[in-house]
Amino acid sequence: MNQRPDLGSIFLGPKGENAQVFERLLLEAFRDHVFWRRNFHPEDGFVIRETERSRPSFEHSISILSEELLGLLAELKAGVPFFSPRYVGHMASDLTMASLIGYFAAMLYNPNNVAAEASPVTSRMELEVAAQLSAMFGYDTDRQWGHLTSGGTVANFEALWVARNLKYLPVAVRWAAEEMGTDDLRVRRPGGGTESIFDLDLWALLNLRPADTLDAAEAFRTGLGDESRAIEAVGHHSMARLGYQEFGRRLFSEFGDALPSAVVLVPSTAHYSWEKHCRALGIGSTQLVHVPVDERFRMDVDALEETLHGLAARRQPVIGCISVIGTTEESAVDRLHEVVDVRERMAREHELAFFLHADAAWGGYAASLVWGADGSRRSHAEVVADVGCGEWPDGDVYQALCALESTDSVTVDPHKLGFVPYPAGAVCFRDRRVRELVAVEAPYLFHRGASEWGYIGRYIFEGSKPGAAAAGVWMSHKVLPLNADGYGYLIGETARGALTLHGRISRADWGDFQVVPLPSPDLNIVCFAISHPSLDTLEQINDFCTRVYEAMSVSAGRDARQIPYFVTKTLLKAESYGESITAILDGLGISDGEYRAEGGLSVIRCTVMDPFLASGRGSVDFMEGFVEALRTTFAAELALQ
Ligand SMILES: *Cc1c(COP(=O)(O)O)cnc(C)c1O
Repeated sequence: MNQRPDLGSIFLGPKGENAQVFERLLLEAFRDHVFWRRNFHPEDGFVIRETERSRPSFEHSISILSEELLGLLAELKAGVPFFSPRYVGHMASDLTMASLIGYFAAMLYNPNNVAAEASPVTSRMELEVAAQLSAMFGYDTDRQWGHLTSGGTVANFEALWVARNLKYLPVAVRWAAEEMGTDDLRVRRPGGGTESIFDLDLWALLNLRPADTLDAAEAFRTGLGDESRAIEAVGHHSMARLGYQEFGRRLFSEFGDALPSAVVLVPSTAHYSWEKHCRALGIGSTQLVHVPVDERFRMDVDALEETLHGLAARRQPVIGCISVIGTTEESAVDRLHEVVDVRERMAREHELAFFLHADAAWGGYAASLVWGADGSRRSHAEVVADVGCGEWPDGDVYQALCALESTDSVTVDPHKLGFVPYPAGAVCFRDRRVRELVAVEAPYLFHRGASEWGYIGRYIFEGSKPGAAAAGVWMSHKVLPLNADGYGYLIGETARGALTLHGRISRADWGDFQVVPLPSPDLNIVCFAISHPSLDTLEQINDFCTRVYEAMSVSAGRDARQIPYFVTKTLLKAESYGESITAILDGLGISDGEYRAEGGLSVIRCTVMDPFLASGRGSVDFMEGFVEALRTTFAAELALQ
């Protein structure tokens, strides 16, 4: 039997086509929950009595509930129709029925996944789905550690928190070993060979590979023979306990030089939240180093290598390098495989080692494409032939998805390309030992003898969190497994929609207007700039783009019901995009000087999550309808100039 589902069976559908099955299962979940209540100590009797119902105060309260619900339902219709093929705006779409029903069913039980004591079922599910995601990235499932978060922002924060603490761990281990009178502790050097931790200078201590750092900490623990005393001693000297200022002061007094401040490398188009994290973690946003991107908006790997050489020459430590798998603006996928090579070279030849994190909040689920249903890795040719959409995904994207296995951690958002309700982000780490770097005890939550998964709150940044979110992700992964026949198939169809849209926009007749698309997307986001002979300056071009966007979104207080098709827009800032959009500017006849003076180029951005967009289902050709709506909007907005 063919395992691949009909995607029509996955969603409620733009017209609620699957309403019957949805209703049946929702009701099933609700009734089953009520039975559970009734059968829990039936001898307890009823607290709310039939005779109460006729009391005026009872009836009054119920009538408020009923009327207000109707009011709420009416108001919600001014919301944004993410389910519609007419919506190609932000990273939101219809959600899987599995996740909605799973979420609703679990929500009735209101589990709190901070501790298994309050969520015996959904805490287990949370770790199960995180392990599935880790396996999709190619991590060893016996060694990985992962969990859900409220979103990609918190997941990224946690990864950087771990990376920062890991960077300074060798120093803490050395101080702890000195305090405990350990006479020898060998560590592996990035260039090969081992050395005593006491013989390393500060630069060498701050440039052990992540795995070697964790091995050193483990060797110290085993060597001491008293696990908890060792953990306590390392914790005592840790950056997490001392904070940057005190830790830096001690570095200076011990080594005579605390070295320049450690940096974090990101592609220049990285999500804006990285700046928040550097600020919040005390790293400082000036230590966030932006690496330029190429004309496909992927991190320029040569520029990365050059930057690393400069840092090595200045003996400036690198906390971590962030590579993006699916940029928020363009869905660009960094050549992660090449970043991995650069990291290896820098470690081996220059003894510069750092943590490698993939921000795959948007694109992480695309890694399902490289796995067959039997768990085997599929070749690039197999993936391309199977998707059947030209040469998509290109060789670099394929290799980048395979290279996720060489990272130290990955952020992925089930609430984006996992098609499940908020809040559901996830962070996965290759090596579960990193948990100790951020562990904090909470006496009221964690009790001796509790099972491993009972302790999750100890290792995560957040506290209370919905078990319902875990149930939603868990159910969705059941219906759509993380391979080419499940999520891979779904995401391949969204890419088909995006590439078809890109082709239509590139070839459409725009009359006097000029529509210049960004290069064909790596995944499924299409962006384009608009101009017209009457728009003389970049400022006018950007203003016009804003007007088109406002006419096609609820941004300017417009009612969603009056909008034929929805888009969003973004500003390609000169300071972030640099020369990567030179060809686009040439197409628009804008000089580099004007672009830099104006600060950036505004483009319309269309996120294609609808797997049916290119399928010809429905009575309307939505691609043609969209192009026509753009033409009409352009003309109307120009007339209003
Ligand atoms: C969306 C996104 C984030 C932030 O994720 P949230 O779930 O919105 O917190 C981070 N990085 C990238 C690349 C993203 O696309």
